[in-house]
Amino acid sequence: MPTLFADIILPVAVKGRFTYSIPENLAGIVSQGVRATVQFGNKRLYSGIICRIHDKIPDLKNIRPLMEVADPEPVVNDIQLKFWEWISEYYMCLEGEVMNASVPSAMFPEGVASSPMQEKYKPREETFVLLARNFSDEELNSLLDKMKNAPKQAELINSYLYITGYTSGSDITPVRKSLLLKESCSAPGIITSLEKKGILRSVSLEVGRLKQFDDQKEPLRELSDLQKAAFESIKKHFEEKEIALLHGVTSSGKTEVYIHLIEEQLKKGKQVLYMLPEIALTAQIILRLQKHFGAVTGVYHSRFNDQEKVEIWKRVADKNPDTGYRLILGVRSSVFLPFNNLGLVIVDEEHDGSYKQHDPAPRYHARDSAIILAGFHGAKTLLGSASPSIESYFNAVSGKYGITELKERYGFIKLPEIIVANTREAYRKKLMVSHFTPELLNAMDGALSRNEQIILFQNRRGFSPYIECPECGWIPVCTQCAVNLTWHKSINRMVCHYCGYTAAIPSKCESCGSPGLATRGFGTQKIEDEIKIVFPDARVGRMDQDTTRSRNSFNRIIKAFEDHQTDILIGTQMISKGLDFENLTVVGILNADNLLNYPDFRAHERSFQLMEQVSGRAGRRKKQGRVIIQTSDPANKIIRLMLRHDYAGMYKMQTQDRMTFNYPPFCRMIRINLKHKERAVLNSFADILGNDLRSMFGKRILGPEYPVISRIQLWYIKTILIKVEKEKPLAKAKAMIMDAVEKLGKEKGAGGSRIAIDVDPY
Ligand code: ADP
Ligand code: ZN
Ligand code: ZN
Repeated sequence: MPTLFADIILPVAVKGRFTYSIPENLAGIVSQGVRATVQFGNKRLYSGIICRIHDKIPDLKNIRPLMEVADPEPVVNDIQLKFWEWISEYYMCLEGEVMNASVPSAMFPEGVASSPMQEKYKPREETFVLLARNFSDEELNSLLDKMKNAPKQAELINSYLYITGYTSGSDITPVRKSLLLKESCSAPGIITSLEKKGILRSVSLEVGRLKQFDDQKEPLRELSDLQKAAFESIKKHFEEKEIALLHGVTSSGKTEVYIHLIEEQLKKGKQVLYMLPEIALTAQIILRLQKHFGAVTGVYHSRFNDQEKVEIWKRVADKNPDTGYRLILGVRSSVFLPFNNLGLVIVDEEHDGSYKQHDPAPRYHARDSAIILAGFHGAKTLLGSASPSIESYFNAVSGKYGITELKERYGFIKLPEIIVANTREAYRKKLMVSHFTPELLNAMDGALSRNEQIILFQNRRGFSPYIECPECGWIPVCTQCAVNLTWHKSINRMVCHYCGYTAAIPSKCESCGSPGLATRGFGTQKIEDEIKIVFPDARVGRMDQDTTRSRNSFNRIIKAFEDHQTDILIGTQMISKGLDFENLTVVGILNADNLLNYPDFRAHERSFQLMEQVSGRAGRRKKQGRVIIQTSDPANKIIRLMLRHDYAGMYKMQTQDRMTFNYPPFCRMIRINLKHKERAVLNSFADILGNDLRSMFGKRILGPEYPVISRIQLWYIKTILIKVEKEKPLAKAKAMIMDAVEKLGKEKGAGGSRIAIDVDPY
């Protein structure tokens, strides 16, 4: 028999897979997808995943053997290995980095393995109590008779018999000790006495950490005619296309359509991955799905601890339909779970920015990656949104994706009425009460008097600084890009985030000539304080990153609003997604300006999406809601489009801009981030790389430039942006970039620098 070799993926900062020989004693055991431990470098042991077994003798001086193999069966399946390879190629990162992002770290030994494979995952065990042997009914009766002087013991036995329904001849069922003690109101000593008598015994059994849905399942709700048509149309698309886009207005019943599609897949024995942005994965939506699909529904988000993640991993891999998960409701990272038979991937709120991971590597986009994953499984992908990303809509319009529209809200409730409130005018006429316009205060007053609820939205980037003329609202923009300039406090200059253009702050407004330009920005905490002064009797809640640090506070704040224990909820992006409140009729968007003025080529698209989504919370059940948008620029094109909920108009305007300024979907972007602790060294390295790339890519290179935050934790940062035409081969461009980056790594003194490549960095 020829010697066999195993290629292994290791969590080390070295490119490539590593080849080891398979010693004879492991030859029958090793398979692709198992965990193994090897020596790497001089002394250190590492654990990784075997990704290939072959008999090709590697071109190495010294071939080491595998030290140990941890699994009899693969823990990572073939499709996952293929998927990791794709991610690492497309997003230009190491397979080890993809492995780290995928496999819960508790499945590997603590840090670097020093002793053989000892995974950190420990199943949770609990004590159960059961009958010591098969007693007959007569025996039990006589035992109980003899216990007249020990009524507590008799009661405990009776509780056990009641819970398990035991009769002679039936199976002996273990009962949780804690439950038995609670039911019989006994102390643990009673069980000990019964054990001594040989009537009961205790065992330790493995129990899951995950919550199990045990309630009665409910049948699906019947789809409305429009929803039925959408459901059929999506299935029709899937006959010809791999991907369909469901463009449905807020509250049109997209979720209801998903539920029917999920049901079909589960009936066929397929698994479904239903992805949501982290902040949209609320108790509300989990319950809504569990209600129909019960215990086969698993949930995956970043707040699970590592031990819980291992249990979820195992249940996704589990092919047994009774114990395995068939439906996973998960966030971005759920694309890495070990699906065994995926039939459908649903990406809800597909336009959401949180699907992209920016740091650390792999810098992947979960929607785009999920499409690839689905392809590997022969599964279909459904993207859903009330305001799709320009890229996805572009793909739909160009015929790559099927498109299905749902234009009416369920129950034909009208989309909310949009009222634009002019803050500049209100300031001038001295009608503003702190940050609130008369229009907003009126609407809030009315809602409170009718005992209805209100949401006030303030952008998370409320403090993002920019310069504005308080007289006419003029904001300095870049001369080369369709973006506003950001005020950099540290250097007191205005900078373009995209091309690096910088300028001094003008001494007077370039539009109306008045002096004294202002800097802008305000946050949720301040709004809460002010609202309490204006409406002293209202109960006010606040939801932002500060109030939702603990695991349950997020759900608690939502629950309080749901139960109408709060009247006004103030929040950031967190309150914009998916929530469904019966009694919510008024939504206030406090400052549309700082959304629209964010220095990003997607600022307009994103503000439209966010405003559409926030307003989508209003008036979902009984009557039309109202949305008050406060802005100093009521004539802004995006605001005008919002007034009519005109997505198509927004799409048209945006695609024209993107074409003019050459942004996605008309080109591809790759960003290189360079960091160094010394500014001068960073500058010289950035210039070397910039020049090298420019000699290959010419005008496609923008920068090097300082990003908005030019120094983080002592690291100075510079970025280089590469725009590659859609028609040009991307793989070739990537190879050239990789070469240039590797070349830079060999420069003298490069050890102190960090380089990160971000593909599709938006
Ligand atoms: P979307 O996902 O498009 O925002 P949802 O699916 O959340 O919309 O539906 C909005 C509201 O209408 C929810 O309260 C939902 O329960 C209700 N609804 C939608 N479709 C139906 C239906 N077919 N039967 C009963 N209620 C429905
Ligand atoms: Zn610019
Ligand atoms: Zn002015």
